[in-house]
Amino acid sequence: MPVYDDSNIFAKILRGEIPNTTVYEDDQVLAFEDVAPQAPVHVMVIPKGKYASMSEFIENASDAEVLALNRAILKVVDAKGLRDSGYRTLVNNGDHGGQEVPHLHIHVCGGKPLGPLLVK
Ligand code: AMP
Repeated sequence: MPVYDDSNIFAKILRGEIPNTTVYEDDQVLAFEDVAPQAPVHVMVIPKGKYASMSEFIENASDAEVLALNRAILKVVDAKGLRDSGYRTLVNNGDHGGQEVPHLHIHVCGGKPLGPLLVK
């Protein structure tokens, strides 16, 4: 599993060192447009806390952080008008999950039928 590294790209976004297009923000969470969208809507939802993976977040985050991250997903869904049409949330974890950035991020995708979960 990835180890937290302060030089990861999402840590830089949180520190304001790299720009982002913010979709939603509160004191615990930032949600922003994916720079290389894989669907008409593709938003990253990240906790502001330093959690490298979902496993680390589930194990160590406070109840308030867990609630805030989940509520933020629905804020994004509604900001993007996806609630009725449907959407997909996805978290890649570690090597086999295909995780590239070692700061927990939830992909929120939608805007068209997304097809099967995994490429066959
Ligand atoms: P993952 O493969 O699950 O780690 O996903 C990493 C995601 O981060 C990919 O969808 C990238 O397009 C996205 N990404 C990388 N750099 C940036 C950035 N500077 N701003 C927004 N999204 C980014």
